[in-house]
Amino acid sequence: MDDLVRAVLAFRDERDWKQFHNPKDLAISITLEAAELLEHFQWKTAAEVESLLVIEENRRRLGEEMADILIFLVSLADVVGLDLVEAGRAKLRENAVKYPVERAKGNARKYDELVP
Ligand SMILES: [Mg+2]
Repeated sequence: MDDLVRAVLAFRDERDWKQFHNPKDLAISITLEAAELLEHFQWKTAAEVESLLVIEENRRRLGEEMADILIFLVSLADVVGLDLVEAGRAKLRENAVKYPVERAKGNARKYDELVP
């Protein structure tokens, strides 16, 4: 992850783009790229999506959209001074408390709807 972060920031800095990277516009960019990801699934059934994912070209295009999201996310974390890996670890710890394995395993319910 560190290598990727360094590469993303180097790419940005070589182009002097940090001046454009404010938190609002980066957050908007993440959402726009997430919408581009969704376009691949729009109007398709789960079975159609499964068939789509067998084709390498489709997988490559999905990967591109996922990478766009990742790059903007890394950029946002840098601009707001947040350690994204640590934030991810902290969130997983929080989720582990909300969703204990014994109550959440095989269950898609939200934490406040899990049977105690
Ligand atoms: Mg894109």
